[in-house]
Amino acid sequence: MTNTNIKRIGVFTSGGDAPGMNAAIRAVVRTGIYYQKEVMGIMRGYEGMIEGDIVKLGARSVGNIIQRGGTILKTARSKEFRTKEGRQKAYENLKKEGIDALVAIGGDGSFTGLHYLTQEYGIPAVCIPGTIDNDLAGTDYTIGYDTATNTAVEAIDKIRDTALSHNRLFFIEVMGRNSGYIAVNSGIAGGAAAVIIPEETMSFEELMTLLTEGEGSSKKSNLIVVAEGSKIGGANELARKVAERSDYFDIKVTVLGHLQRGGSPTYFDRVLASKMGVAAVEGVLNGQSDVMVGVRNHQMVYNSFDTIMSHTHDIDKESLRIAKILSI
Ligand code: ATP
Repeated sequence: MTNTNIKRIGVFTSGGDAPGMNAAIRAVVRTGIYYQKEVMGIMRGYEGMIEGDIVKLGARSVGNIIQRGGTILKTARSKEFRTKEGRQKAYENLKKEGIDALVAIGGDGSFTGLHYLTQEYGIPAVCIPGTIDNDLAGTDYTIGYDTATNTAVEAIDKIRDTALSHNRLFFIEVMGRNSGYIAVNSGIAGGAAAVIIPEETMSFEELMTLLTEGEGSSKKSNLIVVAEGSKIGGANELARKVAERSDYFDIKVTVLGHLQRGGSPTYFDRVLASKMGVAAVEGVLNGQSDVMVGVRNHQMVYNSFDTIMSHTHDIDKESLRIAKILSI
């Protein structure tokens, strides 16, 4: 069934960390060993590849990590890898270690780096989407998104308790530079009065209208979820602008920040990471390369680099509609 030419698979995590990366590492290592391959862990993403920071991983060395946040292989962003010279150094180290296939766990930047390496040196490589933003095409979910959204919902629930006790208006900023996935779905699940995301063009005036309508109703406290990449300003800026226009509200701001990256992965992320880890190794052993693993309608799929990069994972319009209907 499998490519016998591949003897050693290198695995690494790259870009921003996401809960569930450890579950993916575990799955890659154990699947590789299941198919009688050796698996090497490359530390700190492309940085460790360039420096030759590479360790052997056994089935037991990935025990007791499925439930842990972060990544045991650490992650980094490497400027040097963006250059041809950097990638050559990285490839020399892979050759020295006898690594003849790669599995990367990261976002679109990591996949781009992997694409160049494959193009330049012909090394078979598969990417697993690990990023909390859920902003990659070719997959319904990325690893870490479910955990990050659950963390945001927990925080919103807690803030709601204090908001209700004091008739407050809260702006809660969640992660998402270009993508409103965490904001929309944590907003629906947390019962937000409005969700402000990078993809949607709600103007500040529309927001003010929505808030002032609330003044006349019995709705005295509001939770507004704002994605960090909001085009009309982040939570702090919006709070300041609303305060300049109206003294009706007691306005507070909570920026959730890196809280959302940490913590034990949810069951969903652990299972997703496990399935993707198995699919990545089986894919590369079956001749897949320059592809990203994904899950579409509950099926594992492989999408080429060009397909992933020429599409966006647009926010589901139906979710936006639901968020609006339920906030009245
Ligand atoms: P996240 O979505 O969490 O930010 P990411 O994988 O997109 O994850 P990036 O920082 O964009 O994170 O990319 C990770 C690393 O991939 C970079 O530090 C760099 O080493 C490599 N990389 C990104 N873009 C390129 C590129 N155009 N050419 C070569 N390498 C790249």
